[in-house]
Amino acid sequence: MTTDRRLLQTAPDRPGAFHCGWLLDGSGAGPRRDVILTVAGGRIGAVFSADEGPHGLKPLDWRDFTVLPPLVDAHVHLFLSGRSDPALRRMQLSPDPEEIFDHMTARVQRHLRRGVLAVRDGGDHGALALALRGCRGQRYPDEFVLRASGRAWHRSGRYGGAFGRSPAEGQSLADAVAEDGGGIDQVKIIASGINSLIDFGRPTRPQFDAADLKAAVAAAHRRGLRVMVHANGERPVADALAAGCDSIEHGFFMGEANMVQIAARGTVWVPTAGTMAGCLDALEPGSPAADGARRLLDHQVAQLARARELGATVAVGTDGGSPGVRHGRAMAVELALMSAAGYRTGEVVRCAAVHGARLLDLERTGVLQPGAPADFIAAAGPPEALWGSLEQIQAVYRKGLPVVWGEGI
Ligand SMILES: [Zn+2]
Repeated sequence: MTTDRRLLQTAPDRPGAFHCGWLLDGSGAGPRRDVILTVAGGRIGAVFSADEGPHGLKPLDWRDFTVLPPLVDAHVHLFLSGRSDPALRRMQLSPDPEEIFDHMTARVQRHLRRGVLAVRDGGDHGALALALRGCRGQRYPDEFVLRASGRAWHRSGRYGGAFGRSPAEGQSLADAVAEDGGGIDQVKIIASGINSLIDFGRPTRPQFDAADLKAAVAAAHRRGLRVMVHANGERPVADALAAGCDSIEHGFFMGEANMVQIAARGTVWVPTAGTMAGCLDALEPGSPAADGARRLLDHQVAQLARARELGATVAVGTDGGSPGVRHGRAMAVELALMSAAGYRTGEVVRCAAVHGARLLDLERTGVLQPGAPADFIAAAGPPEALWGSLEQIQAVYRKGLPVVWGEGI
């Protein structure tokens, strides 16, 4: 994109002000029209209606923009591109070591271009995202946050080999988690299989014994690590909740009782509904698999509607890298699906920014209020156009300064 000169007028030693056409502050409230937001010392100074007059400030003219907190993608796999071609996907499982980090850097840029300033990687068998995390400032900008789980845990012979490894022969999951010295940001456990596109609702069996899973979560918590659990189906989700996990990933077919539990416990749910939209795009229209993907998509949107009614905490994760789920671009797909489930735009932004920031333990809360870090993004046009305008964000600010990377984001 060409950088608009209006976006680059603040300097670190000088307070700035922005006249925002619309402000979605991340609190869950609806958009506020014509708001002036001031910045000083990297923090938000004041937020007030433009009707009050500019108070002697000369705000940047962002009257055509919607301003909101930076987004968080709470579930990605940076080692995969999201392309659907099966041959290409097989190749991506054993990537060229010379090229893979360039590809992952490009994927980070795709996130940034869509206003995603933090991602949580759900694992890869080569711990490549964990290696990339160590290259902050070289391979990706300082302002971008990458949380990595290294290699996910799955049971030998069950789903998940591409994303991690299994405990050793005869070793419990709990011992494996306790003994891992990997320098990771959180633990990822794959506790069920994936959903059949053909046999709708076929239950997937738990991968681990419930007591072992509980001990594994406790072992991770003793190490100060949060645990994200891939779980589909009533039993696997119930086991993960009983184990005290921090987030349920996917959670297809979890059922009413588990949803009530999620809301009651305050566990975070990351529905990744867009994975089914991605699948659908890649499948032949009208084929049994495409029909299955459509039903799974509708099912997950219905679960989201129920989560909203119950007040469950939802964070937004795309599963970027899954078939048809392109890094960065997939965020708007996921957000639009939340809209389809009945979430208002302000609520969607709270899930994508604030709930994600909490889940990743970001220092910023995500809510744009006086005293908070001046981290925000600007999208062209009104909030009604947001799912489209996120495709090409106008500006990303971190601590009151524009984030510039490579040829501009
Ligand atoms: Zn995943």
